[in-house]
Amino acid sequence: MSTRTIPMTDALYDYFLGVSLREPAVLARLRDATLAHPEASMQISPEQGQFMRFLIRLMGAKRAIEIGTFTGYSALSVALAMPDDGYLVACERREEFTKIGQPFWREAGVADRIDLRIGKAVGTLEAMLEAGEGDTYDFAFIDGDKKNYVNYYDLCLQLVRIGGVIAIDNALWSGRLTDETLDDPATTAIRTLNESIRDDDRVDMSLLPIGDGLMLARRIV
Ligand code: CA
Repeated sequence: MSTRTIPMTDALYDYFLGVSLREPAVLARLRDATLAHPEASMQISPEQGQFMRFLIRLMGAKRAIEIGTFTGYSALSVALAMPDDGYLVACERREEFTKIGQPFWREAGVADRIDLRIGKAVGTLEAMLEAGEGDTYDFAFIDGDKKNYVNYYDLCLQLVRIGGVIAIDNALWSGRLTDETLDDPATTAIRTLNESIRDDDRVDMSLLPIGDGLMLARRIV
């Protein structure tokens, strides 16, 4: 028994996956297709994808935003959990990443739910606001370049409706946040955003130690 989050040993992690992972075959194949990629560690863990599908269904989310699509595993997770008229704006700067995932989006029958926007996400999100899409999204997943995390959060908080949820990946940043000798832009940005969400009265929040840490913020005003 413990009053704190249990340490995840390799054996317990294997058990955890064995007893709880329900990964659709198409997602497993996309995960395999990404494994050989030199930046494969940027992909979310399968249990995190499952949690996000659970969250999307719990919320009944139909309109979502993703920042940092990489090879498309998290986008496919979100799109699969949404209804037929679901809509996901997927922002990715490097088109070559998304070409790995797109065949799997089509195979899963959800490619028409994913509106891929190649380019810098700050510009994409600003254009969405200028087009009058503020307060219209149910869910946003932030997993792009870390130095822009504060900007992404500020923009997503304008794009999601009251009651909408923003999920921010890598909120525990492989434990680097507690190393006070580290002050690189990415580490500093994650520390800054974590602390500002803790103190942000506009949201309910909870930081889950799943994957590399998933910060959840629910807009309340
Ligand atoms: Ca990530």
